[in-house]
Amino acid sequence: MIFSEQQRRRLREIDTRTVWHPFTQMQAYREEKAPIIASGKGVMLTDIDGRTYLDGVSSLWCNVHGHRHPKIDEAIRRQLDQVAHSTLLGLGSVPSIDLAERLAERTGLSHIFYADSGAAAVEIALKILYQYHRLTSAKVSKPRRKYLAFHNAYHGDTIGAVSVGGIEIFHEQFRPLLFETRFLPSPYPFRWEGEDCLGECLAALERALEEEGDELVAVILEPLVQGAAGMIVHPEGFLAGVRDLTRRYGIPLICDEVATGFGRTGTLFAIEQEDVSPDVLVLGKGITGGYLPLSAALFTTEIYEAFLGEYAEFRHFLHGHTYTGNALACAAALASLDIFEEEKVLEKLPGKIARVREELAPLEDNPIVGEVRGRGLMMGIELVREKRTREPFPPEYRAGHRVTLEARKRGLIIRPLGNVVVLMPPLSSTEEELARMCGIIRESIEVVANEP
Ligand code: PMP
Repeated sequence: MIFSEQQRRRLREIDTRTVWHPFTQMQAYREEKAPIIASGKGVMLTDIDGRTYLDGVSSLWCNVHGHRHPKIDEAIRRQLDQVAHSTLLGLGSVPSIDLAERLAERTGLSHIFYADSGAAAVEIALKILYQYHRLTSAKVSKPRRKYLAFHNAYHGDTIGAVSVGGIEIFHEQFRPLLFETRFLPSPYPFRWEGEDCLGECLAALERALEEEGDELVAVILEPLVQGAAGMIVHPEGFLAGVRDLTRRYGIPLICDEVATGFGRTGTLFAIEQEDVSPDVLVLGKGITGGYLPLSAALFTTEIYEAFLGEYAEFRHFLHGHTYTGNALACAAALASLDIFEEEKVLEKLPGKIARVREELAPLEDNPIVGEVRGRGLMMGIELVREKRTREPFPPEYRAGHRVTLEARKRGLIIRPLGNVVVLMPPLSSTEEELARMCGIIRESIEVVANEP
């Protein structure tokens, strides 16, 4: 689609005057002339000025098979000819049933509660477990109400999800509004000051489980990679260690795979890599291939059955969202799962992952690169002011953002997390496309490193 000069001016003017962008300082945004995206195809996005960009962060970590994938487009159109949406409150809907069956089969978790964003699904997990303990504990005067979460955790922006969020600049100011959570050290090897990052973190968890024991509702964890904190990759064994301890102390474990799910870490779900089966699994983002808002919290039979009873006992879960299990979104999700199988998406990942590692490796020598890390196709490049001491850039320098602007000039859309440059491309990216993305990142970091 071609936009006239007048149309472009109008769109830009209204965008800066009226649209309040998430996680964006609008004062700076107004000056920046950020691209306004008009269309996409494969891993490319095109803006209203006709410029094309590689989508290096999968449209915020959700696009999986590329934009306008014919099979997902077709599945949505087919569903549109049936019905776009009907409620799941007391009624069934065809695609939500088919999708539930597929997810249950694949995860071993038997009961699926749908929502429409990652945060909403996290809320559901937190609330269901709170009620679960109330339903299953013998009459106690003080119900369990405390959660365990990890420093640097991110689970979404609604109040419950923020309560279990451990990123100071996002979460701290809201603390007075939040429920009680105890935060535990999370293994961040690059910035760990002790001797044994993995061992010390697991020991701290065990101490907390021992001390808080019968006050705890659940432990919540992003498996393998803490995404929003800057692609912090946990050492091998942490996830399995957390599962062992939570099982030993009888505390339910919620694994939040909103970011890591659907192939990002190299397997369909991150939990598979340490052979972990949580009590609750939270999915979102890539579930629809990145097309439509859908999320889900998956539960064990034991949790589900605690909610069964006569109507007037009011054991049921009194919670639901209007668009829960939306039919178009579920149809997209089913098509996305088909593509995983038909196009052997996971089988093709090892070559792509190796190529990204190889292309980013030269950055290790760059004077402002502290660490290049990643799992699967979730990559983070942590920029530092001083390589030897690992001193971070001050926030006002906006080091990550400077790289983003340079990358944009060269045709790549990325979005940093503070001083961490993030690359999280669609799984469908070809090796050649990945090499182009990495090349632009190398060049852009080079430019920023040479700035006075
Ligand atoms: N959990 C994790 C691990 C996430 O990374 C995110 C979003 N980045 C969320 C939850 C929240 O998802 P949403 O933005 O769809 O609410």
